[in-house]
Amino acid sequence: MTDRLLNFIDGKWVEPYTNEWLDNINPANTDEVINQLPASSTDDVDRAVSAAVEAQKKWRKVPAPKRAEVVFEAHRLLRERTDEFAEALTREEGKVIAESRGEVQHSLDLLEFFSGEGRRLNGETIPSSTTGIFACTIKAPVGIAALITPWNFPVAIPIWKIAPAIIAGNAVVLKPAEQTPTTADLVTKLFEEAGLPAGVLNTVHGVGEKVGAHLVSHDDVNAISFTGSTEVGLHIYAEGAKGNKKVQCEMGGKNALVLLADGDVDGAVAATATGAFGATGQRCTATSRAIVHEDVYDEFVEKIVAAAEAAQPGDGFDPESTLGPSVDHRQFQQVLDYLDVAREEGVNFELPAGKFDDGPLARGYFLKPTVLTGVTPEMRVAKEEIFGPVLSVIKVSSIEEAIDVANNTEYGLSSAVWTRDVSRVFHWIDDIETGVVRINQPTLGGEVQAPFGGVKNTGVGEREKGKTAIQFFVEDKTVYINHAD
Ligand code: ADP
Repeated sequence: MTDRLLNFIDGKWVEPYTNEWLDNINPANTDEVINQLPASSTDDVDRAVSAAVEAQKKWRKVPAPKRAEVVFEAHRLLRERTDEFAEALTREEGKVIAESRGEVQHSLDLLEFFSGEGRRLNGETIPSSTTGIFACTIKAPVGIAALITPWNFPVAIPIWKIAPAIIAGNAVVLKPAEQTPTTADLVTKLFEEAGLPAGVLNTVHGVGEKVGAHLVSHDDVNAISFTGSTEVGLHIYAEGAKGNKKVQCEMGGKNALVLLADGDVDGAVAATATGAFGATGQRCTATSRAIVHEDVYDEFVEKIVAAAEAAQPGDGFDPESTLGPSVDHRQFQQVLDYLDVAREEGVNFELPAGKFDDGPLARGYFLKPTVLTGVTPEMRVAKEEIFGPVLSVIKVSSIEEAIDVANNTEYGLSSAVWTRDVSRVFHWIDDIETGVVRINQPTLGGEVQAPFGGVKNTGVGEREKGKTAIQFFVEDKTVYINHAD
């Protein structure tokens, strides 16, 4: 029989009340059902939230440095399990094994960084204008946090939400993505085995519209941290507002890499290739647009096409593969639909694009790396998130035009400019509408100790990662003490 994953509620591994299950499919070979996950009901969510409410009463009294010791121990356990995590990730998400190992390393770095945050959970002292009054702030937990996570970084994202939430003294309910339940299961076990008391972390699997939606509207949930699509995130933001909950959403991106006439073409090409085709273009920080000055346009196009030709789609476990499949049928079809949009918009396909009609790659959701040229700023492929290995190249003739084109989207996560001119660098930093700004670098990712997040329809609420991550999960309490004789 196919293995079945379970929910984790109040420190126990339990079946869903529904006794209904969903298949977890291998995206590199859709004939393979890896395991099944609970199709939980709203009753399972209620049970998890009740457990969290009870557990948080004691957890918030544990000193913050002691709470962080659990995260420190989770770091030690993950280091012993890197292969297990990386292999589960490649099997269910599809990214190539080297990328999976990179995500596990990033997760180790996150746990290491957050482990120290328990000892740094300090407020501030404030000089009172009245004699005999001592004033300060303390960081109090928000209470119960709902963590709703996506499939594209299914180890790192749950970890970068769980760690600051529990260190701050909250109890949480994690609703992981349906496509990547095994990695969520492994992350949950990490914290269980690290000694987290029962009920502080609860994991409930299931369909977003049911389990996630119920969690978001639950009266006992005080904060919601979401990463996923803009459509769902904006809906969650509105739902959260109705209950006066704290909400943090990290949503879509349409990240641009700009190459100016004086920039390093080879460096920009390498950064674009890794940004556009790495992780199959399924990163929220993926490079989806290359905006290139006319003086270096032809050279850039020739070299990026060569880089795309060199990419090797294939099963993530094959060491020769550099490009895994789309995660599921919906995502695969979305990219194919955008290729139709591109055809209708009349752009040039520099290489044959689309799916594979025969051979082993036809058994999975594999796509050919795609370079579109002749793209103009108002086209849909220049403005909308595609989330696949598709790059739109747009020609410009000045930095002013490059900035206008780069900003011509509803999103604002990451961007990069390639130039050697310091005044252009500062012009770019000033005028670009993104939360992450990179100079002579790929648009990708970010370091664990630096804040991460976007503007416009990409993000709302405190930045994740870095020192700002804790701030979302606390309420500042201002205390005045009269110590006059
Ligand atoms: P993607 O398009 O990348 O799959 P989604 O935004 O659909 O991203 O999903 C991200 C997470 O949000 C997943 O865990 C999913 O189950 C959950 N989700 C989807 N719809 C809702 C909803 N209406 N309410 C709460 N959570 C949801």
